[in-house]
Amino acid sequence: MSAAGADGQPDRSLIDTRGRALRDLRISVTDRCNFRCTYCMPKEVFGRDRAFLPRAELLTFEEIARLARVAAAHGVEKIRLTGGEPLLRKDLHLLVAKLSELRTPLGAPLDIALTTNGALLAAKAASLRAAGLRRVTVSLDSLDDATFMALNDVAFPVATVLEGIRAALESGLGPVKVNMVVKRGHNDHDIVAMARHFKGSPVILRFIEYMDVGATNGWQLDQVVPSSEVIARIHAQLPLEPVPPAYPGETSVRWRYRDGGGEIGVISSVTGAFCGACTRARISTDGKLFTCLFATTGDDLRALLRHGASDEDLAAVFAGIWRARTDRYSEVRGLSTRRPPEAGGRVEMSYIGG
Ligand code: SAM
Ligand code: SF4
Ligand code: SF4
Repeated sequence: MSAAGADGQPDRSLIDTRGRALRDLRISVTDRCNFRCTYCMPKEVFGRDRAFLPRAELLTFEEIARLARVAAAHGVEKIRLTGGEPLLRKDLHLLVAKLSELRTPLGAPLDIALTTNGALLAAKAASLRAAGLRRVTVSLDSLDDATFMALNDVAFPVATVLEGIRAALESGLGPVKVNMVVKRGHNDHDIVAMARHFKGSPVILRFIEYMDVGATNGWQLDQVVPSSEVIARIHAQLPLEPVPPAYPGETSVRWRYRDGGGEIGVISSVTGAFCGACTRARISTDGKLFTCLFATTGDDLRALLRHGASDEDLAAVFAGIWRARTDRYSEVRGLSTRRPPEAGGRVEMSYIGG
């Protein structure tokens, strides 16, 4: 039985076995990317002969919007479009327009966001904003071309990503967040330079611990720079103080500059697992539902969609999967130095949606 919500209407939120509600949906709109970040799609594995999903296997915009509508009826408030590189999906603004028509049971629009490498953002920011996109997160791992190019592995220049960030700000896609994945020995020497660059700007810079996602990036614990070290290095030059979380279970731990120069965040996926507050589900490019970033299998929603399932059928499947959810991979992995043996079967982040 559903409990009554604040408005007296039945509360149709889905709650898993650990008391976590389904609130966020990440949707991978393409498994392709124009970068080959060494920590995500290493060239040795994602080379020229890599087979990506054929178009017919991708969820259509109509199918994505339908799943999002069912999810919104059951508590999802935020949708993040990701990939792969989501801006490679043709006419993405048309999907954004469809999603921006959706409402929660209380009639509120959904919070629609996008994570992008920024390569195509300058050209697309205004049309995405006009279609209803609210916020954008841009990934940028260094301000130094040599370091950035070594990480993106396609010789992509920093300046173009910075232009994308500028266009996003000018289009009103704020607050713009910038994600920097920190990999020891690769870009950790740029932590303070990145902090200095975005200090005093409207951009919120977030440092992400390098994670053992997927099965191909050769992750090792000694390549992870703990968030505590990131904060200490910045604090030594640009004094910081903690900021209370904006809401319980916020994944990014916030800090602000003591001189009023704005704030930064750290996402401690390895040293400070936040599974206890994880309210996210993911839909892969071909329509499988995953309840954890580190999952090995997902449930095929596309087959249901393409075989005439009703919204009620889809809702029942969502509910069954979420209510049975037990995931807490990062808590269990803890600080073991190697990825577990079963990691070989894990799906890649570009497919499941980062
Ligand atoms: N292509 C887009 C981008 O790079 O922003 C969206 C997809 S990407 C998989 C989403 C986010 O995951 C990016 O911020 C990326 O830096 C992050 N990411 C990818 N691999 C990671 C890893 N091994 N550890 C931590 N973050 C990772
Ligand atoms: Fe592409 Fe994003 Fe993965 Fe880099 S992190 S390879 S940009 S999907
Ligand atoms: Fe959520 Fe899985 Fe990450 Fe834990 S490991 S925070 S359950 S996605």
